Amino acid sequence: MSDLTDLYQQVILDHNKRPRNRGKLPTANRVAHGDNPTCGDQCSVYLRLDGDRVAEISFDGSGCAISQASASLMTTQVKGKTPAEIEALFKNFHHIVTTGEMPEDISDIAAFAGVHTFPARIKCATLGWHAALNALKGDPTTVKTE
Ligand code: ZN
Repeated sequence: MSDLTDLYQQVILDHNKRPRNRGKLPTANRVAHGDNPTCGDQCSVYLRLDGDRVAEISFDGSGCAISQASASLMTTQVKGKTPAEIEALFKNFHHIVTTGEMPEDISDIAAFAGVHTFPARIKCATLGWHAALNALKGDPTTVKTE
């Protein structure tokens, strides 16, 4: 597993150590769950869509460092954006993790470029994004709060 060390760049380590927007979002009006059984990653995304913008977003889950750090980073990138902007962002992210190419105008998400040399990890890195996109496409869901 030592090959994986290369993946753990500073941004990934930081998000893994101090995940942003982690936990259920009581005010969410959209929720979706992501599951990556090949690695055992789970990720739920909660968001509050206000008009056509994501006003608040959080994630919760468990799994490998790549999946959790990527979900954490995703929440910071998606907040305040429209679904169309988020889809465009995901396309860039997907391009980065599948090709390793780093566009100059994209900062933090480029930290995941190293993932492309570990194809099995692409699913880990995109799990949170897929959950967020599903949440945006889905019908409004009432999140149970207890
Ligand atoms: Zn994983």
